[in-house]
Formats: sequence, C-alpha cells, structure tokens
Amino acid sequence: MRRVDDATILSRGAAVESFGHIIDGEEVPSLDGTTFASIDPWERAPWATVALGSAADAHRAVDAARRAFDVGPWPRMGYVERGRILHRLADLIEAHGDELALADTTDMGKPIAETRGHDVPRSAQNFRFFADHARLTPAETFPMSTGHHAYTQYDPAGVVAAIAPWNFPLMMETWKVAPALAWGNTVVLKPAEQSPASATILGRLAREAGVPPGVLNVVHGYGPDSVGSALTASPLIDRITFTGESGTGSAISRAAAENLTPLSLELGGKGANIVFDDADLDQAVPWSIKAIFTNSGQVCLAGSRLYVQQGILDEFLARFTTAAAELRTGDPKHPDTQLGPLSSREHFDKVVGYLDIARSEGGRLLGGGTPDGWTVLPTVVLGASQQARVTREEIFGPVVVVIPFTDEDEAVDLANDTPYGLNAMLFTRDLSRAHRVSRALRVGTVWTNCFFVRDLRAPFGGAKNSGVGREGGSYSREFFTEPKAVVMEIDHR
Ligand code: NAD
Repeated sequence: MRRVDDATILSRGAAVESFGHIIDGEEVPSLDGTTFASIDPWERAPWATVALGSAADAHRAVDAARRAFDVGPWPRMGYVERGRILHRLADLIEAHGDELALADTTDMGKPIAETRGHDVPRSAQNFRFFADHARLTPAETFPMSTGHHAYTQYDPAGVVAAIAPWNFPLMMETWKVAPALAWGNTVVLKPAEQSPASATILGRLAREAGVPPGVLNVVHGYGPDSVGSALTASPLIDRITFTGESGTGSAISRAAAENLTPLSLELGGKGANIVFDDADLDQAVPWSIKAIFTNSGQVCLAGSRLYVQQGILDEFLARFTTAAAELRTGDPKHPDTQLGPLSSREHFDKVVGYLDIARSEGGRLLGGGTPDGWTVLPTVVLGASQQARVTREEIFGPVVVVIPFTDEDEAVDLANDTPYGLNAMLFTRDLSRAHRVSRALRVGTVWTNCFFVRDLRAPFGGAKNSGVGREGGSYSREFFTEPKAVVMEIDHR
C-alpha cells in the first residue's frame, strides 16, 4: 500500500488539481483536513491532492447514504424517472470524456487511447444498459392451483459499499454503481487510492445529472484500518461489491461475515490462452497480444499463461514476439502509445521481482527490459514449468509464460491446474472442440477466437479463487435487490 503525505507534494510542487470526497451531494475535505498525493506514474511526480478519508469520513458517507435510502426519493422513484437521470449522467460522462480519460491515464498510466476509446464509453454504456435493464426486465408470476397467486417483487437492497481497484478505475466503478443505482439503492464508493480522480469527477457529474444528495457518495482512502475496512465492517451496509486481489477478497469476506452482509467478489486471475494447431494465426496472434499486453498486463482477465500446441510453437512464437516488439511504448498521454508505465513504483518493483523469479526458476526471457521510469517491456518467459511461481501467481504485468502442449486433454488439464478460474481463451477452427473445451474449463468466461468481448447481459465473475457470485444483467439484479415473494389469495370460495 502506498501512503504519500503532503510533504511529498510540497517538496515536488507539481500537484495542480484537487479532488474531495462527495458526501451528501457536496464535495468536501476530510473531517481532519488530511490529504494525499496521487502520483502520475509516467512523470513519477504528484499531479493531484486528494482528500484522505478515515473511518470517520466513511461513517459520514454511510450515514448520508442510509438517510437517502431510508427517507429519500431515490428508492421510491419509478424506473422511468431514475432511468432518465442515469441516461443524463451517461450523457455527461460522454461530454466529459476527455477529462475522465485523462484523470485515469494520469492516475495510473493506462494509454489515453484506451481510457478515451474504451473505458469512458463503456462507463457511459454501463449506466445506459443498467437503467434500461431495470426498466424493461419483467418480474415473475406464479399462478397457483389453490386459489392463490404469487409474484416476485425486486426491492432495492439498501446501502451498497462499492470498493474498486485501480486497473480500470472508472469502468469498474461504474460497473458497480450503475446497477446499484438503477435498482434503487444508494451507494458509498471507495475508489482505489492509486486512481482516485475519476470517481470524484463522476460524483460531480452525478450531482449535475440530478442524482439526489446522498445517493452516490465517494470516499477516498486506503483499505485496511481506513475507509475500506470501515465500510466492510459497518452494520449499516446492506451489500458489499468488491473488485481486487483474491487476498483482499478473503479479508473483506471475514469482515462481512460479522454482520452477515452479502457480498459479490470479482478477484484475481491467471488466464489460460490455448492456441490449437488448427487456429487461424492471423487472428490468434493479435488477440493473444491484446490478451496479455493491454494495459501493460494489468488486467484480471489477462491471458498470462499461453499454451501453444507443439506443432505450431515455433511459428506462433516468431509471430507473437515480433508483434510484441512492435507495440509502441511511451507517454500514456500520447494518443499513439499502446503500452504505458506500470501504475506505481511499488507495482513496478513487484513485476520486476517476478522477472528475477522467472530467471531463478530456469525461465528464459524473450524481449522484456526496463527502459527509464516504471515501464516494463513485453516479456515472454519460455521454459518455466507448470509449477513455477511465474506460472501459478498473478504477476499483473506484461509478462506471459509460454508452455507447449501435445493434445486437447493435456491443454485442458494444464489450463485447469491453477487456483484461479476467472477466464480462458481458446483459438481453434474446430467448432466441436471449441464447445468441448469450453465446457471442460473451470472458469467464469471462455472467449473463443476473441478476447474481452462483452455482452452486459451475460454473467461475469470467477470460479475458484477468482470470485464469489456473478454480476451483469439479471445477475446484477439478483445481487442488488432483495427479491420478495408476494402471495395473495385471489379466490376464497
Ligand atoms: P487490491 O485488492 O489491492 O485493492 C482493491 C481495493 O480494495 C482498493 O480500493 C483498496 O483500497 C481496497 N482494500 C484493500 N484492502 C482492503 C481491506 N482490508 N478492506 C477493504 N478494502 C480494502 O487490488 P488492486 O491492486 O487495486 O487491483 C488489482 C487486483 O484486482 C488484481 O488481483 C486483479 O486481478 C483484480 N481485478 C479483478 C477484476 C475482476 O473482475 N475479477 C477486475 C479488475 C481487477
């Protein structure tokens, strides 16, 4: 965890913007006035001062959200009216797209082409999709033969704590906030301390869109012994939705157990990418490049274990390493950059540490290298075993382990031999094999001949240590509502 005090900011003198909490519709400083610096990982200097919340600030936000839920208009509004406000918020996200994209890019180093071209449009789409989904989804009726009739009512669950990671800041936050709001809940959002800015901007835009005070609160701060743990331990919270590391997910589960608070956990991954010898390499190579090097590999869904069928190994590797070397690295604020720096000094050290581990485990590194700053170039690890740490642990950087296989059964066994189960990719022209292997993989999502293509109605989440529960479409409704059975007598004769 990175803690930076004001002295750092003052000594560098570079911080120009400031971001407060959003509580009860107002942008406010912390109760004790404390701030922290957000570091631009390309410049390696602070660029913003951010209110540093404590448990007291978290409680203030929870109280506001509780009031807004218990007596405010939001849960009592119709879907049409709520939907209109959420679509207005989506419009504002689009109108402020450059500001939001730059905030995430400056906070954590993701290329602006991705934040502007993908993350921001997806964030607006999250609000549009869930607003429409809540308005249009029918509830069930159960005609009974006893002279009774039952139906389902999806009541809002209450106050939602949403705790987000830094790798897709605005996109992951809106993936939680949008369905929670669409179903009539109120929210306290805690963004990651490495990427706070876009959440405050989102809170400002929500106010402008007409979201009532207290309905969307944003509190900045750290996880343990800070805002994060105050939220997860609060008895006033009705749902916790968390995305982050699997270890953090365990800690949050323990905290939530005290109050029996239901939770949804989207956790780490070590995705298998299986390339069969009948694959169309013109498709498989560019998708495999995207799968591991997008966002410098800081993607839970990254295809970081690349299993290639023996017969095409040499050709695949030649094409893959050439394409990797052609990725344009540099300043993430430059529109042509494809690979920016890692998100922080601490994370850079972690990823570089794994390169040393790979070598010590007998791995041979192709590509790679660390130019100035916190950038790690695309790295291919050959010769690492299935049991090596680099094959089993989530590195969360532009580092891919390549392991050959001989047949379909072996590929499935290798892919499933991991504590994680978020996703897998497979490349083949054989339709039957694609279905067979998809069924055999113990993961939440299988992408065949593609990667990261999403339909927001589909379930999203992980098997094994990659998560608990699913979100998306009706799965989000299950989590963010309290489904109620209403049974009525309709004929008492
Ligand atoms: P992290 O677990 O370190 O932190 C995530 C959030 O949890 C942050 O806001 C942090 O402040 C907070 N937090 C930390 N400890 C806490 C505690 N004890 N109580 C309450 N809150 C706490 O994760 P990260 O480094 O920000 O994100 C990277 C991880 O997220 C990777 O493991 C990645 O695979 C995972 N991820 C998963 C998905 C998914 O959909 N499954 C998506 C994106 C990222």
